[in-house]
Amino acid sequence: PAERLNGLGTTIFAEMSALAVATGSVNLGQGFPDRDGPDSLLEDAIAAIRAGANQYPPGRGVPALRQAIVDHQKRFYDLSYDPDTQVLVTTGATEAIAAALLAFVEPGDEVIALEPYYDSYAAGIAFAGGRRVPVTLRAPSYRLDLDELRAAVTPRTKVLLINSPHNPTGTVLDDEELRGIRDVAVEHDLVVITDEVYEHLVYDGTHRPLATYDGMADRTVSISSAGKTFAVTGWKIGWVTGSPDVVTAVTTAKQFLTFTSGAPFQPAVANALALGNDYYDALRADLQSRRDLLATGLTDLGFEVHLPAATYFVTTDIRPLGHTDGIDFCRMLPQKAGVVAIPHQVFYDNPAPGRPLVRWAFCKQPDVLQEALNRLQKL
Ligand code: PMP
Ligand code: GLN
Repeated sequence: PAERLNGLGTTIFAEMSALAVATGSVNLGQGFPDRDGPDSLLEDAIAAIRAGANQYPPGRGVPALRQAIVDHQKRFYDLSYDPDTQVLVTTGATEAIAAALLAFVEPGDEVIALEPYYDSYAAGIAFAGGRRVPVTLRAPSYRLDLDELRAAVTPRTKVLLINSPHNPTGTVLDDEELRGIRDVAVEHDLVVITDEVYEHLVYDGTHRPLATYDGMADRTVSISSAGKTFAVTGWKIGWVTGSPDVVTAVTTAKQFLTFTSGAPFQPAVANALALGNDYYDALRADLQSRRDLLATGLTDLGFEVHLPAATYFVTTDIRPLGHTDGIDFCRMLPQKAGVVAIPHQVFYDNPAPGRPLVRWAFCKQPDVLQEALNRLQKL
């Protein structure tokens, strides 16, 4: 195999979900909900299949979904886009990230990414021939140190790859951090790829897209996805918004990765994006109560718990329980307690800060979370 695959191996999510199945463990590893999202959405996809939406849709996405994405950006963020030139539908945010990196990174270019980072970032940067430069969000606050960001920029820096709300820490970048990112991007003329798939799963604070900041409209690739917002992670419908030039560049890469994406899912997601505020509010309230259930339970078990402001994930430090290495801990956990979690270490280039950290997903039914907590008494 080619050198670009070096170090990629099997994703931690595949490894840990397989281990959960093999050991009958409660899977709090890979972040996917155990209830599918709204009935109307599921019915709309079934109806779309029956109505014949089964052949290649337009490359940039079906018109109804592109319009719904435009309406969503206006409704939630007062951002204005043209559905014909400024929106691209992708096969999940994962394809959007890969296509954006292929579109903007030359071999040897440096890509600054917030560490710990979602694992497909490393692969996408490697496929584009780029070099990863991490800027670490450090315990206990997991905030962005703007001095570290500035210090990471070199003449070879091309892209800032930002993720807010942030997986796995749950950090929602605040106004000062976002302005700092904007200032660095403008000063050094960088492209900013911003992964905002957890935009509607924010429990404390508010999410503000980078694209809303002055100077960002023409240099930002904004990415989101239906997976988290509508609890259909297997549908793999994502999208990109940005300037016409940015979207054309990403489209050029996307058309030769997959050409088009999930025909019958697109009209269904279009309708879901237009659901009333009651849907979005209930989604958030529901997940917030699960976050609190899991965080309280893990605290009672003796973990040092970081309460995340957003996302599906609680981060814990395992040292109060006498463990030091998250990978060893997560490999032992299914056998010992029948629970699966994810070690932070796999999301770092320099693993030291992540070594004692473990991530637990709370996008599960309350009785499932309670069962996991009961099992963890055995530790
Ligand atoms: N970005 C982040 C930060 C994620 O956690 C995930 C995974 N759930 C994705 C992107 C991938 O999204 P999708 O399933 O839409 O490809
Ligand atoms: N984003 C999900 C997580 O962080 C999983 C995605 C995947 O399996 N690649 O758990």
